[in-house]
Amino acid sequence: MTEPCVFCAIVAGEAPASTIYRDDAVMAFMDIRPVNAGHVLVTPLKHEMSVLSLDDDTASHMFTVGRRVAAALKDAGVRLEGFNLFLANGTVAGQTVFHAHLHVLPRFTGDGLGFTRNANVRMPPQSELDETAERIRRAGGWE
Ligand code: 5GP
Ligand code: ZN
Repeated sequence: MTEPCVFCAIVAGEAPASTIYRDDAVMAFMDIRPVNAGHVLVTPLKHEMSVLSLDDDTASHMFTVGRRVAAALKDAGVRLEGFNLFLANGTVAGQTVFHAHLHVLPRFTGDGLGFTRNANVRMPPQSELDETAERIRRAGGWE
């Protein structure tokens, strides 16, 4: 049996959410455990675990609505000097709700959030970057 999806329940109006925006493809609502005040989630109405399973229009629309929410946050009095648009796809990337969603994260100096780079970050030789780029071009059908 598949686990019930909390975001599907929100979309269906069966679970409560503090909704900001809704159209025929996506909705935006407040994160129940905000990492900073004003933390918003934008999610497609359709259940897909991976953003890669969404059609292009819906996936791009998530970004469009995320931008609009970010633009509204400051006027709404949210403490914000910048923001992150963040999407975790897959457990290893930090996804914990398996219904694709985009985080809109207000950021301010000293908020204690941030990505940390792993210890083995290095600058690879150009040839290695070229070789990787070529493989991705081929896989994407862009050559
Ligand atoms: P993820 O870790 O999958 O990128 O993000 C899941 C987010 O959903 C978390 O920030 C978490 O606080 C939020 N969340 C989990 N359950 C609920 C819920 O029932 N309602 C709302 N509004 N947010 C939720
Ligand atoms: Zn769902």
